[in-house]
Amino acid sequence: MQPFVESVARITGLRDRDALTSTISEVLFDWLHAPNIAIYGLIGEGKDRRVVLKSHLIAGVEKVADSMQFEPEAIPLLSDMFELEQCVTLNQAVELSGVRHSAHEVLFPITNSSEVVGILSVEFTGQPNSDHLGLIGGVLRIIANMLSVLDYGERDTLTGLLNRKTFDHSFHKMLSAPAVQRRRVLAPPAVPAGVGELPDAIASPTRVRAIGLVDIDHFKSINDRFGHLYGDEVLLLLARIMRNNFRVTDQLFRFGGEEFVIALDWTQADHVAAVFERFRSAVERHVFPQIGRVTVSIGVTVLNPFDAPAAAIERADQALYYAKNNGRNKVLQHEALVASGALTQREQEADIEFF
Ligand code: GH3
Ligand code: MG
Ligand code: MG
Repeated sequence: MQPFVESVARITGLRDRDALTSTISEVLFDWLHAPNIAIYGLIGEGKDRRVVLKSHLIAGVEKVADSMQFEPEAIPLLSDMFELEQCVTLNQAVELSGVRHSAHEVLFPITNSSEVVGILSVEFTGQPNSDHLGLIGGVLRIIANMLSVLDYGERDTLTGLLNRKTFDHSFHKMLSAPAVQRRRVLAPPAVPAGVGELPDAIASPTRVRAIGLVDIDHFKSINDRFGHLYGDEVLLLLARIMRNNFRVTDQLFRFGGEEFVIALDWTQADHVAAVFERFRSAVERHVFPQIGRVTVSIGVTVLNPFDAPAAAIERADQALYYAKNNGRNKVLQHEALVASGALTQREQEADIEFF
C-alpha cells in the first residue's frame, strides 16, 4: 500500500502537464510492468482534431519526446485513426483486436473531468485482470482531477483560452523548445499505424517565434451601446475566430478584459505579419449578432533567443499603440516600425533600460 501512496504523492505533486504525462507512464510501468505504454494528447477542434504522441515507454524506457516539434499539418488527424477516434467519441476503453494487434492492447480515454483530452494506450503481457484495470481506472481519475485543477488555474473562465498567469511560463518554454526539425518517431505497436509515423517535417533556418498583442477597437462603446452581456459575447466569438484562424500548435491567451496574446509556433519570418493579417481580416469580415462589425488592432513582435516576456509584450504594445493612433484595424510589427523610423531609436533603448 505504501508504494502506491508514494506514487499518488508523486503524481499529485506535479504542476506541469508534460511532467505529469511522463510520470503517469512511469508510475503505470512500475505497477503493471506493461511492455508498451503510450500517452497521446489531443489538439485542435472538430474535424481538425489531431493526435500528438506525448510519452512512450518501451520496457520502461522513454522513447519519444513531444511530437509537437513537427509541422502541425504533419500531426495525424484523429479522424484517420478508427480505434483512437472510437475511444475518444465513446469515452470508453477500446480493446484493439485484429491481425495487426495482439489480444492484450487497450486504449483508455484520458479526461479532464468534463471531456476527453487524451488517450492512454497499454499493451499488457497477458490478459489484463481486474486489478490491472482497477489500478488504471484509479490513475485515470487522479489524472482527471489533476487536469481540472490545472485548467482552473491556467484558463480564463469566459473564453477557455490560457490566462495571463501562464504566459511567462509558456514564454520560457517557447524559447527553449527546438525549431521544427527532421525527426522520425516510431509508433508503439499498440497503436494503429499512422500515429507515430510522422512524415519528415521541413526544416527551415528562417523560422522565428513571434507574439501578437490583440486589442478590440472601441470596445468600450460596444459595452456602452449594447451592455456588458453583449460585450462578453463578442469576447467569446472573438476567441472562437482565433481558434479557427491560428494553427493548433499556436498558443492563445486572454490577457486582460479585451486584450489577447497569440504566441505563434515556429513560423517562417516573412509569414508572421500575414498570419496576423489573416486573423485581423477574419474579424473584420465576421458579422457579430446584433452588433455587426467589430475590428481589432494588433501589435506584433518577433522574439529573440534571450527575450524576456515583459520586454516582448512591451514591444508588441508599442506597435499596438502605434496602430491605435494611426487608424486602428491594423497589424503593425515592431521591427518594421523601427526599421521605417516610425518608432524611434530612443523608444527602442527605453526597452532595454527598462528591463
Ligand atoms: P480602443 O480602440 O482604443 O482600444 O478603445 P476601447 O474602448 O476598446 O479601449 P479601452 O481600453 O478604453 O476600453 C476597454 C473596455 O473594455 C473597458 C471595459 O468596459 C471593457 N471590458 C474590459 N473587460 C471586459 C469584460 O470582461 N467584459 C466586457 N463586456 N467588457 C470588458
Ligand atoms: Mg484595451
Ligand atoms: Mg480596446
